[in-house]
Amino acid sequence: MRSYEQSAALLARAQNALAGGVSSEFRKYNHPHAIFYSHAEGTRIYDVDGNEYLDFTLSQGPLLVGHNHPHVTKRVDDYARLGQLYAGQHILEVELAEKLQQLIPSAELMRFCLDGSEAVQTAFRLARAKTGKAKFLRFEGHYHGWLDNVAWGLSMPSVDALGSPEHPNVFPWTAGLPDRVSDEFITLPWNNLDLLRQTVAAHHHELAAIITEPVMCNNGCILPQPGFLESIRDLCTTYDITCIFDEVITGFRVGLGGAQAHFNVVPDLSIFAKAMASGYPISAIVGKRAWMDLITTAKVIHAGTMNSSNSTVAAALGTIEVLEQPGVYDHIYQLGGQLMDGLRAIGRHYNQNLLVQGMGPMLHTGFTDLKQVNDFRDVQAYDKVKLGRFVAGLHDEGIRIIGRGLWYLSAVHTTGDIDMALRVADRVMSKLD
Ligand code: PLP
Repeated sequence: MRSYEQSAALLARAQNALAGGVSSEFRKYNHPHAIFYSHAEGTRIYDVDGNEYLDFTLSQGPLLVGHNHPHVTKRVDDYARLGQLYAGQHILEVELAEKLQQLIPSAELMRFCLDGSEAVQTAFRLARAKTGKAKFLRFEGHYHGWLDNVAWGLSMPSVDALGSPEHPNVFPWTAGLPDRVSDEFITLPWNNLDLLRQTVAAHHHELAAIITEPVMCNNGCILPQPGFLESIRDLCTTYDITCIFDEVITGFRVGLGGAQAHFNVVPDLSIFAKAMASGYPISAIVGKRAWMDLITTAKVIHAGTMNSSNSTVAAALGTIEVLEQPGVYDHIYQLGGQLMDGLRAIGRHYNQNLLVQGMGPMLHTGFTDLKQVNDFRDVQAYDKVKLGRFVAGLHDEGIRIIGRGLWYLSAVHTTGDIDMALRVADRVMSKLD
């Protein structure tokens, strides 16, 4: 049995200085409590108690080329040696922007920021300025950061509390939100095209934007129904609404051009973060000139002291250079397929109601009697207690996945890693009631 004693002691100490002992809410919810890590390499991460984990969290997604990739590290070391932040321009940020222009279909112009949350807000500001309208339409279970106007609908008291699909209830995720922000958006279940059409027809005069994760990664790793993304695109064009893809998870992960290239649907604006730079704080708001030129002309203001610092830009270029190597995505998809097939077979063997959904680079494991999970309402039907025991069992045997059942694959995972994960999953599943 693994010991987490040193982590527990550090957590107790941290709680006197850091609120809750952590620097981000999600880090509290590890097993059996927040864990302190000492170092990481490739697919392995080590905690202060000396426990080794095979990592499928990729640190909530960013580590798509693994921990401490030597090419990324060298790129960062070489460039950061020249200086950290100039409050001025430097050559690599132009190279990075030109690279993204080549790779991402909608990236006619862009700006760099620090994280996904602020890039989402930049997209909203652009959409309002472009359309002269105020509201955005979002979908249940999609996460767009922790700031005021999107910190809604992420925790639900019960399935019934969701209300009718036509008029869903949304609950604040946190205290301290101004009342007025709940008027900024309309929420709908995802993947329900009829409802989307009706709602947009009724509300287009007030809708500045529709924002969606192109794959609903944050809850159940649900793929879009055929035609759903295309229809969002068409409705936006018809009604002068800005089509925003939040590619914070899908960006670089499903392919170098993001989900927009994968599904061949080009939004007006999109947001890239996480996997873009192997854990260095950089994000990008990218989009069509008709929107981004509002920033060019300073009609819309975008700023940030720390934007495009040397290390973050070098990390992004280094990461993309690794991802551009031949065969990288084939490898990730092949391993993801192997993991999904293996997990499904284990579920069947132990007669468990395990549902595995997703696509190669990211997948979700949940326990439900549903044969397919299509939206956030279905996600509420997952057996969270059983999932908690599964995740804890994996963790205690050295397999680290995201607590809500999400697994990320990286370019440096191997078939040996997948075999090991499946062996452990088999043992854990054999003991689940
Ligand atoms: N959008 C999506 C789809 C995300 O998954 C996240 C974070 O998990 C965000 C936005 C917010 O990004 P950040 O945590 O970098 O602010």
